[in-house]
Amino acid sequence: MKIPEPGDDYRTAAPSQVRHPAQQGVTYRPAPNPDDAPLDITRRSPDDLYDPEVMYSPTINALIERLLGYMPGASEELVRRAYAVAYSAHLGQKRQSGEDYINHPVAVAYILLEMQADAGALAGALLHDVVEDTPVTLDQIETLFGSEIAHIVDGVTKLSVLDMKDKEEAQAGSYRKMFIAMADDPRVVLIKLADRLHNMRTLQAKEAAKQQRIARETLDIYAPLAHRLGIWKIKSELEDLSFKILNPQKYREIAFQLMLRREVRERIVQRVIARLKQTLAEENIEGGITGRPKHIYSIYRKMERKGVSLDQIYDKLAVRVIVSTVDECYRVLGIVHSIWTPMMSEFDDYIAVPKESMYRSLHTTVIVPGDIPCEVQISHPRNARSR
Ligand code: MN
Repeated sequence: MKIPEPGDDYRTAAPSQVRHPAQQGVTYRPAPNPDDAPLDITRRSPDDLYDPEVMYSPTINALIERLLGYMPGASEELVRRAYAVAYSAHLGQKRQSGEDYINHPVAVAYILLEMQADAGALAGALLHDVVEDTPVTLDQIETLFGSEIAHIVDGVTKLSVLDMKDKEEAQAGSYRKMFIAMADDPRVVLIKLADRLHNMRTLQAKEAAKQQRIARETLDIYAPLAHRLGIWKIKSELEDLSFKILNPQKYREIAFQLMLRREVRERIVQRVIARLKQTLAEENIEGGITGRPKHIYSIYRKMERKGVSLDQIYDKLAVRVIVSTVDECYRVLGIVHSIWTPMMSEFDDYIAVPKESMYRSLHTTVIVPGDIPCEVQISHPRNARSR
């Protein structure tokens, strides 16, 4: 594994240092004169560019299967072609961990699958580093994939140039850019957040000082952004990954305590979920129900804010229900309130009074057996699928 140098980016080498496969003659036909003529993959024959072995590799087949699972009419072909082009463009590049670079855009696409992103978002995710890190240009992306996909890739590329110098200025500035990009196409910000999440998950490959800087930036900028968009899962993971790097001792302490209590909590959550599932089935409402994973950083913040120990934290359980319409959200709310007693002071209607969020949601807290408060979030995805 290559030891990262100070000033290195996330990638193995700066784009200028990366020898493109075309220049190595590995897969591409070499351009007649690489110094004069920039590589133009649009000139390659479709047979060459869309190699069936790549287009139908197990990696992409698995991804397509998941996509079609929640979006049967999605453009499989678009995603397969995006993968083939990204694969060719990144061929020969490695991440700092030593693995092939293409694993990174694929991992980003997998994160988007969890948010039930559409084919355009997945294609954008697969291509998100191509313009920045390979000789392939935005014009070529547009020629191959049309203006919509080119627009997404361009948005992500522009956001990745955000360089954090002065923290305050950077925060305000990047927020602005993020939101301009989002207003334009929410998929740009989704991809950017998924990109940051995967980079955080693989941060061990970097040197300590750099890990600290990136973790700080994630906590200051990306986690609040995910919060404002209501993408809770990404937000909490970004926070916990950052916290683990910035305050490893405290992280371990809380994680250990939670581990001790986990069994009891999990048993209760599972019982709540089972009861809810059964009732929704009886009412013919199809919904995904999940228990919310433990979020260490938010517990730490609460301890700091209230100046209390972990034992004194009001230990709320949480369950999330995702249904497909607003109407069903309210029906589920009625069902939840009829099964368990609600704490009326803890009710928020973010459907009637929306916040800047990717989700329309209802938050309520009910008392479940054992006299334990359990927050139930009922939502339906609004923007995650498409614009
Ligand atoms: Mn990336």
